[in-house]
Amino acid sequence: MKVAIVAPEVAPFSKTGGLGDVAGALPGALAALGAEVLTISPLYRPVQKHAPESTPHQLQFSLGSLPSGVSVHRSGNHYFLEHRDYFDRDGLYGTSTGDFADNGARFLCLCRGALELLRALGAPDVIHAHDWQTGLIPMYVKTLYRDAFARTRTVFTIHNLAYQGVFGREMMPLTGLGWIHFNWKELEFHGNLNLMKAGLVYADALTTVSPGYAREIQTPEQGYGLEGVLRERSGALHGILNGIDTAEWDPSNDPHLAARYSAGAPAGKAACKAALQRRCGLPERPEVPLVGFVGRLSVQKGIDLLVGLLESMGGEDVHWVILGAGDEIYQKALRAAAVRRPDRVSAHVAFDAALAHQIEAGSDLFVMPSLYEPCGLNQLYSLRYGAVPVVRATGGLADTVHDGENGFTFGPYTVEAFAGALRRALEAFADRAVWRKVMAAGMSRDSSWEASARRYLWLYESLVQG
Ligand code: ADP
Repeated sequence: MKVAIVAPEVAPFSKTGGLGDVAGALPGALAALGAEVLTISPLYRPVQKHAPESTPHQLQFSLGSLPSGVSVHRSGNHYFLEHRDYFDRDGLYGTSTGDFADNGARFLCLCRGALELLRALGAPDVIHAHDWQTGLIPMYVKTLYRDAFARTRTVFTIHNLAYQGVFGREMMPLTGLGWIHFNWKELEFHGNLNLMKAGLVYADALTTVSPGYAREIQTPEQGYGLEGVLRERSGALHGILNGIDTAEWDPSNDPHLAARYSAGAPAGKAACKAALQRRCGLPERPEVPLVGFVGRLSVQKGIDLLVGLLESMGGEDVHWVILGAGDEIYQKALRAAAVRRPDRVSAHVAFDAALAHQIEAGSDLFVMPSLYEPCGLNQLYSLRYGAVPVVRATGGLADTVHDGENGFTFGPYTVEAFAGALRRALEAFADRAVWRKVMAAGMSRDSSWEASARRYLWLYESLVQG
């Protein structure tokens, strides 16, 4: 099975979020199962130090009527596409003031460059494209590049449907596809050009990062206008959960922790809790339940509910340790909660990887009241670290946290529902036998990439054989 993964970011070279992690981890996990995998992404400025000095290979093509091209650098099985004007910039997609105005042309260049490269290398069995930046690839494989890739199948993965790559219709000539494709069944979306839609319509199979999110994006609430397209293709749409880096997130071998522990030898977790209480200036009291939160301070993560809950639960003997960076309004609210109850609430406005590990290890419970969550990683870390998750049952959270078994869940997006789930969790915490069982169920979950890679491989095989 020859697989080419094309993505706008591939960790560790380039990463702004979960997509980079997936494109970085999946190739190794697929290769371990016997697939031959290569990856392709742009050579952004911060990435240049990874590109070898070797003489690059030149590829020429045109964007509309304009001659264009890329230089190809190779490092192992990863190919970097270099284009000075488009990719030699500090940010991947924009600056703090907004997206780059020419993102449409930049990622068109990625799509065309990747297909020219794959044509030169020999067509793979499967091209696996990720998010709107590569949305035109499945379409090109069936149109402009039909002859070169007659036997190649395409998979398109949605990491977050809120970002679709919508551009003015004046970009249509650059695609080289002809106005005939500018219609509501293909590229057109409310008078504009929608690059994600191209992937959704043309890929042989679609995936997203959890079965729950696969269902939710077919509804008007979470489909962002593409729910109709997704419903039409629901037979080809699969939810495949992301794995986690089990070497980085391993409580039995985590250099950030005061003590190491595992499901079989859990004693070290108490030392981690005491160390976290000390670090956060909370009284060192082992019997008080400690609740953790780590995440972006944005609407998506349900910070409104978290702030509301801190206000309503002021009287309870519970410790809170909160770590997050993001929206100013949430920073202020969380800092205020910590000022009100310094003996109970410790709030850290920062991006701090070491503290994130220490919170997972030192917490008894971990909350994720997300408004929506395509997959979510923190609940998977929490399960592995024995920090019992209390989550809103949405997207990947609903798929991985099961009420009363390995965690606690709630449905309605309200402070009351959140408080109800937390209260049930605290009752369970008070019963050591029950608690040990819930913790053990979480700690034994297999969140490795191997299980997810197997699913992708089955999907590739079904396409190639079908
Ligand atoms: P999303 O990709 O939507 O932000 P995920 O739960 O999928 O949410 O992944 C977020 C990742 O970023 C996790 O690895 C989490 O630990 C990390 N993270 C988020 N905020 C912080 C922070 N303030 N400090 C350290 N790590 C953070």
